[in-house]
Amino acid sequence: MASKQKKRRKPKARAAAPTPRVRKPLPVFREGQRFACRDCPARCCRMPWGVAMKQDEAQRIASDPWVKERLSDEALAVLAGGVLPMTERDRRPACVFLDEDQWCGLQKEKGHAFIPRACQVFPFGFTRDENDRLLGSLSRLCPSVRDDYGEPAVEQLHDKLEQQGFVHNTSTAMSTLTGVILPRSQYFPIVKTWESRLERTDNPLETLAQLFDWMSAFELALPGGHEKVNDETVQKAMAAADDAEPTPLRTGSGLGYHGRMFYAHVMGHLCYPVRVSLDHRVGKPPWFHFAGLRAFLLRMMWLAMRGTVDLLFVDRPVPLGRVARVVPPVVGEQGRTVAAFLVESLRRRQLFSQPRQLQAVLLDLALATVLTSRFARCSAAAKGKTEAAPEDVAEGLGIAELMVISHISPTRASTLLQRLRWAMLSEPFSLRRMLSTEAT
Ligand code: SF4
Repeated sequence: MASKQKKRRKPKARAAAPTPRVRKPLPVFREGQRFACRDCPARCCRMPWGVAMKQDEAQRIASDPWVKERLSDEALAVLAGGVLPMTERDRRPACVFLDEDQWCGLQKEKGHAFIPRACQVFPFGFTRDENDRLLGSLSRLCPSVRDDYGEPAVEQLHDKLEQQGFVHNTSTAMSTLTGVILPRSQYFPIVKTWESRLERTDNPLETLAQLFDWMSAFELALPGGHEKVNDETVQKAMAAADDAEPTPLRTGSGLGYHGRMFYAHVMGHLCYPVRVSLDHRVGKPPWFHFAGLRAFLLRMMWLAMRGTVDLLFVDRPVPLGRVARVVPPVVGEQGRTVAAFLVESLRRRQLFSQPRQLQAVLLDLALATVLTSRFARCSAAAKGKTEAAPEDVAEGLGIAELMVISHISPTRASTLLQRLRWAMLSEPFSLRRMLSTEAT
């Protein structure tokens, strides 16, 4: 969601926006973190995602005379439907407003305040936590955030919050897998337990497997009958879960069907040509390009882990057969880096913006971790290495951010992905197999 903030032209007046109640967001990112938009080039304008807008915002942009002249009828129809239309450029999606110089044409013409709010705000995000405090976060998908480039991010929070104009609240309740509803006073102590265990680990895969076991023990220890679940019985169940013995994460059991399907679906989505086959894409290729057949074959390659793919953010072909030779990197120093990202993801509270099962949040953390690891191994394999470098892992965190943590929400996930998620939640063994294949 590129918000090119270089001051090429003075922004015109901002559209009216609902004003947030509290104006001092707490930063949920590293102290001293920096950010400035730069010539990355235009990464956020070229992602395989859909930048959604509210209807009034879409209409405001679509009805502008300059926009009408610039866009085709097909693109205008997509825009009026509430999504920024994308086209294909250099085997990547590209926003229809992105110029050849890699700057946003809409911003150059109309000013920063005219472009969609999602683009203005990126890479910042805001939520309101359980104590009604505003939280400001940053997406690791942005290379400036990843590389700590630019001006102090904390000084930009206020302006970005104004640009966002609305803030997601933290859900008042979450549930367990067996359907016990827990209000904030009961589910946040559980989240704090997760945070403290992840803070102390250098092996997040092992810790996540233990947390799933901990949640199972917690559920078993809750009293039967919803009316008996209160702050006291929740505390007792947490103590019982602390005493339960977790099952060690054993390696060597293989990825399994659900794991293979997950990578085929999610990593496949990041590969050419699937990454340009978007619903909101305009100028679709003619039938004789056989886009559907090529997408099918690509997913088959991921299922079999054979063949060579063109993976997003990797500048050379990835030989899938060599990925298994790369040592899983999410342990030790890199494990601490990933665990810190998981803790930050929990503290942003974005994962709690909708009522759902607590284990679904844990699943997000687990999928983010295995995706980070798998991407880093792919990147190393493409360079002919058998060890992933810290920059491979850092880029993997951006992929996890994109596909799991903050940009492609589970509610917007495809039916297949939703089914896979549910299968992993209801069959813990399949998730353990996935975790174990990324463990050393
Ligand atoms: S990804 Fe970050 S640095 Fe690149 S265009 Fe977007 S906001 Fe700017």
